[in-house]
Amino acid sequence: MNSYDIVIAGNGILGCATALELIRNDNSLRIAVIGPKQRIGGATIAAGAMLNCITEVNHRTLSTAVGKAKLEISIRALEAWPAWLDALNSELSPTRRLAIRNGTYVILNNRAGRLDSLNYNAVIDAAIQYHQKFERVPFGNVPHLKPGVDARPLDSIYLADEGAIDARQVLNAVESVANRSGVVFLDDTVVGWKRKNNQVSCAITASGEEVQADRFLVAAGVASRSLLADLAESSAMPLQPILASKGVAVTSRGTGSGGEHVVRTPNRAGGCGLHMVPGSDGTVYLGATGDLMMQADEFQTIGAVRFLINAMDQFDKRLFHSKITQWHVGNRPVSLDGFPLIGRVWQDNVWVLSGTHRDGFHCSPLLARHTADIMLGGIGILGDHCFAPLRRPLSAMSREDAIDELSLHLVSQFYENSGKSPAYSEVSETLEKQYRTRTRETYDKLEIDFGLAPDILGLLNWAVDREAKIGYFRQYFQQVSRASQEKDVYNPFPAC
Ligand SMILES: Cc1cc2nc3c(=O)[nH]c(=O)nc-3n(C[C@H](O)[C@H](O)[C@H](O)COP(=O)(O)OP(=O)(O)OC[C@H]3O[C@@H](n4cnc5c(N)ncnc54)[C@H](O)[C@@H]3O)c2cc1C
Repeated sequence: MNSYDIVIAGNGILGCATALELIRNDNSLRIAVIGPKQRIGGATIAAGAMLNCITEVNHRTLSTAVGKAKLEISIRALEAWPAWLDALNSELSPTRRLAIRNGTYVILNNRAGRLDSLNYNAVIDAAIQYHQKFERVPFGNVPHLKPGVDARPLDSIYLADEGAIDARQVLNAVESVANRSGVVFLDDTVVGWKRKNNQVSCAITASGEEVQADRFLVAAGVASRSLLADLAESSAMPLQPILASKGVAVTSRGTGSGGEHVVRTPNRAGGCGLHMVPGSDGTVYLGATGDLMMQADEFQTIGAVRFLINAMDQFDKRLFHSKITQWHVGNRPVSLDGFPLIGRVWQDNVWVLSGTHRDGFHCSPLLARHTADIMLGGIGILGDHCFAPLRRPLSAMSREDAIDELSLHLVSQFYENSGKSPAYSEVSETLEKQYRTRTRETYDKLEIDFGLAPDILGLLNWAVDREAKIGYFRQYFQQVSRASQEKDVYNPFPAC
């Protein structure tokens, strides 16, 4: 039996970066990261990866304390990146050193609905409110962009401090530096646990190993919740469902566009914006789709490929002739309330770090540092935050707001998919009415007032096994309300 001080289940950026922080804190620690070497379906290996925070804001972000708290973490992460990368580079050979490509253009074009304008304006408001530098680009004339005539930007802004970096190269670098510093990487999968008294004593792996440790971190992306299911205490607050937002993206070569910076739309329907990220080797990354599912999978669908190919002329019609070098498929871990899950679970020697959805890569230096610190007994650099994992879901919207928001997203999606109707028709209004009726029905079946995100409501509105899915969520909410009535429930999270 192998024995360590700390075992981390999950070898994406959050697991690996936390391992690196731990060993830097104390190089006498014996640390193992368990995860399959191929990382198939993992989020990190599919990410762009934009280091975006203000440009991730939507028109609801700043209307709640919890939305602001999340944005503030993201801004702190942006500030942390240069020093974090310098430290990583100092341990890499000169040829492997990594650099951020600074600069992000956000464009507003007319290939979507009203939601784009709301979110675009929200990005500008947030930049002003949070004193982040940005400049307006006259007439939306982004250098090197060559969109189709009917997709010309109406407006654009440039944020010099938000950029991108190659996620796969960063992950490789973190893994190899951690490994050289003494972290052991096991090419395996955790399938269960052994318990002793009220603690976990061993992780059991698919290959039959029992890996013993004093402390455990679960950072297994979308698989984190199912991995923790056996450890749940029946009457205590449950961990939120973690869903998979499957993203498909493509890298291609030789576009001739010569763009040096990220070009992106604001976040769009379903919570995912379109973006083009230049690589260091003459390639461009075009992403991404976002399909919310109960479980992860690793396949690009014809529908996702069609969506991306259709979308390319919003940036550069020369992509038509570019050669595809790689398809990327990854599953973003999305918690039910859309906020990250950071902290201890039911046992006092087990922590979780997941639910980071669209910006877990960007936030990784900060989240890793915080998690390493709390696992070593500190209070963590995030201090007393609102994202403790055993919480009641954080509410960012009322039920009526959620119904409005879903309608807005779906009508926008209709126009994103080239929806056309006679000018005199009231197609948007008619669609909105239908969507509202269907969503009210879903809410009645769920028996909750909680404002769910549009992609979750979308999943529940039209799934083939709609009743089963609604039943699953209803059961979760019933468990939450039972646990909330218990006086001694473990609930460390302060009001947000
Ligand atoms: C297409 C796409 C584009 C994105 N773009 C961006 C972006 O531009 N900027 C940004 O910040 N974020 C982006 N994201 C989101 C970001 O990738 C995630 O938030 C982040 O990578 C999550 O990291 P993680 O370590 O939690 O999860 P993952 O990277 O999914 O890692 C989890 C790991 O755990 C392993 N694992 C699973 N089950 C087990 C088990 N039972 N035992 C052991 N190991 C297990 C998996 O193999 C995987 O390697 C994007 C995601 C996608 C899919």
